Amino acid sequence: MEDIIIIGAGLSGLSTAYRLKKAGISFKIIEAQDRLGGRIETIYGQDDTPMEMGATWFGKEHVNLLGLLSEFNIGYFEQHTEGIALFETMSFEPPQQFYVPANSHSAYRIQGGTYSIIDALYRHIGKENIVLNSKIIEIAAEDNKLKLTDNLENHFFCKYVIVALPPKLAIHSIQFSPELPQALIQVMQKTQTWMSGSIKFSVEYKKAFWKDKGFSGSIYSQSGLATEIYDHTNYEDTKFALKGFLNGSASHYTFAERKEKIIDQLKRYFGNEATEFISYNDKIWNDTYIQPNNDTFLPPHFNNGHAVFDESYMSNKLFFTGTETAKTFSGYMDGAIKASNAIADRISKII
Ligand SMILES: Cc1cc2nc3c(=O)[nH]c(=O)nc-3n(C[C@H](O)[C@H](O)[C@H](O)COP(=O)(O)OP(=O)(O)OC[C@H]3O[C@@H](n4cnc5c(N)ncnc54)[C@H](O)[C@@H]3O)c2cc1C
Repeated sequence: MEDIIIIGAGLSGLSTAYRLKKAGISFKIIEAQDRLGGRIETIYGQDDTPMEMGATWFGKEHVNLLGLLSEFNIGYFEQHTEGIALFETMSFEPPQQFYVPANSHSAYRIQGGTYSIIDALYRHIGKENIVLNSKIIEIAAEDNKLKLTDNLENHFFCKYVIVALPPKLAIHSIQFSPELPQALIQVMQKTQTWMSGSIKFSVEYKKAFWKDKGFSGSIYSQSGLATEIYDHTNYEDTKFALKGFLNGSASHYTFAERKEKIIDQLKRYFGNEATEFISYNDKIWNDTYIQPNNDTFLPPHFNNGHAVFDESYMSNKLFFTGTETAKTFSGYMDGAIKASNAIADRISKII
């Protein structure tokens, strides 16, 4: 039997585990997917360009994230925004151009890609403490312990469990026995999961030709399939890409159709050079690792940081963490780390 099981190996689950390990407390992390990181996913293109399909930017006010980066000695750098930005309101009119000067209050990116932080956590936590490909479907109180069951009918036993999933997903995908209090269930069902349903894309290039033409790479479009686009050159200035978000309707197109439409859109702004790309990638964040089937819309950050997540349940054996439970910067990486630091502190006092 484990002392503690953490469900979910996203930034929250992993940073909780890291803090517990530092406090000398034993645990196991159980993750549904065959990879770590959850909403953090850095992919590498054909030319090895790191491209973020999930979390990318942070600000100087994100002190919990900055603290962890500094603990791991991971550097960061400013998002490139200097140059001509484009603003497109209608498809039949050329986009408006704005010159954006260098910005000292920029958004920042993590050197080597956001996954660097997941990798550092993994190395500190140790492979032996992580179980992959195990989707928890039931948590049941049994005598003086909790019994967890996964989709392959494996069982795990522990004294305490920390649920590090988006609350809305947790209440839809895990059966709790005995049932959780109604007040908690209702809040969980209506806690918005940040970025659930969003679609990110990246196009990898041999060089940042847009910069050579004076463009920053920042584009905002109300008429194209890509609604926001940014320069995605790496810290070393050796790998190049444009990256951004697609309109929600993009999920109705096939991958090939999305690719064709995005390259056409970029060609409209930058000419033929835009068609000489190395690779196109995109990711629709609508799988069952982030949202329930047939998910319904909730306003951004709705019920995030709700007081119900401060309580423990199932006779003080069940706890919640995850960015949606954070009181500040919920939804963001900073919130994930803040919530996890807090839960690890709390557990350290109980154990
Ligand atoms: C497209 C996108 C862009 C984003 N951009 C930014 C940004 O620029 N800046 C920023 O700060 N934040 C951004 N975010 C948000 C950021 O990614 C999250 O705040 C953070 O990664 C959340 O971590 P978490 O551990 O709380 O949750 P998650 O990352 O969702 O982790 C939950 C984990 O639980 C696993 N899981 C699910 N169900 C089960 C189950 N039943 N059993 C076991 N495991 C399960 C999942 O596979 C996942 O690994 C973005 C997110 C997305 C999707």
